[in-house]
Amino acid sequence: MNILIVDDLATNRKLLHVTLEAEGHLALEANDGVEALEILARETVDAVISDVLMPNMDGFRLCHEIRKSERFQALPFIIYTSTYTSSDDMTLALTVGADRYLTKPAPTGAVLQALREVMEKKAARPVALAPAAEESYVLQRYSQALVHKLEEKNAQLAHANRALQNSNEELQQFVYIASHDLQTPLRNISGFVQLLQSNYAQVLDEQANDWIRRTVQSVELMHILIRDVLAFSQVDSQSVPFQPTSFREVFDDAVARLGASIRDAGGQITCDELPTVTGDRPQLVQLMENLIGNGLKYHGSEPPRVHVSVEPGGNEWSFSVRDNGIGIAPKHHERIFEIFRRLHQGQEYPGTGIGLSICRRVVQRHGGRIWVESEAGRGSVFHFTIPERTMNPP
Ligand code: ADP
Repeated sequence: MNILIVDDLATNRKLLHVTLEAEGHLALEANDGVEALEILARETVDAVISDVLMPNMDGFRLCHEIRKSERFQALPFIIYTSTYTSSDDMTLALTVGADRYLTKPAPTGAVLQALREVMEKKAARPVALAPAAEESYVLQRYSQALVHKLEEKNAQLAHANRALQNSNEELQQFVYIASHDLQTPLRNISGFVQLLQSNYAQVLDEQANDWIRRTVQSVELMHILIRDVLAFSQVDSQSVPFQPTSFREVFDDAVARLGASIRDAGGQITCDELPTVTGDRPQLVQLMENLIGNGLKYHGSEPPRVHVSVEPGGNEWSFSVRDNGIGIAPKHHERIFEIFRRLHQGQEYPGTGIGLSICRRVVQRHGGRIWVESEAGRGSVFHFTIPERTMNPP
């Protein structure tokens, strides 16, 4: 027998294909209802096994179209679905003219048994010319089923969203508590090592003093790491409501916080005229501090120059932070925004690899995008957008 399998999932089609072939049938495959009708027009088909939810034309509609045509009115049709499984769906399947209704995944035996039964039914009543159901009635039932399905999916989505939000909050809380609690023993280690250094430096030999120095350095690095992990975990939890915010003031705050680094590096930080945006001011300061701070840190032989500019674009502001530093090879442009992703080792350029991941979260929370344009050795331009009237996030 020639059996037409209609399903938009290739793995489902393959599974059924193999099963039918093992039973000596010939299987044809269609991706959706439209493709199925095309195959029916040119091939001889003895029965159809069809999924319901498919793009272009779903299984109910396909069955209805088949039953409307004189040529296929008696073609055995089995609906095989994992989505439409309520008794209403079953009634609708029979209304549009399906012979059988199977819920996915059914055991192989059940599929073959259903196939045998519909074929026998056809043999017993070769001209099964059941009057085609009235079009408007079918359409009404059909749209009811679709609306119902949509509502069901929406409810499932809302439920999944809530669960995701809860686990996200729990995770953030966990990261916060873990990092917070790590600070106390670290402070103790730091204190004792410093005591060792100040009280026993004369007694200990060069090697011991070097080890103490390295321990102090590692403890300091860990302090910074914990501080940055805490900052990352607080992007959502420590957020404040969005408000009209002068970006010039944001820039000035960030520059003030970077005062020592600017002086140390002999840097020059400049900006265009900057607009007022709607956003979370402390987070925007953090964003600018990280971007300008990186521009200062990753400088080459020239003293660092960082310039902040802005352009209006449609319904968003498009900001750029340009530096004259060491640049970033294009293959790293995406990955540098991932947490703990660093292209340089601590000795040369200290850091934790968290700054840009915080920037990305802040920008995303404001409904914008962030990316970099750069080439190794030719400076970098970090671009980010902020929608002009960003509503408070849900
Ligand atoms: P950190 O600076 O602590 O390493 P970031 O997340 O801020 O972490 O940056 C990730 C990596 O991206 C850095 O290690 C660095 O290699 C690269 N990078 C970031 N900003 C710049 C820049 N302005 N110029 C060159 N490289 C940069």
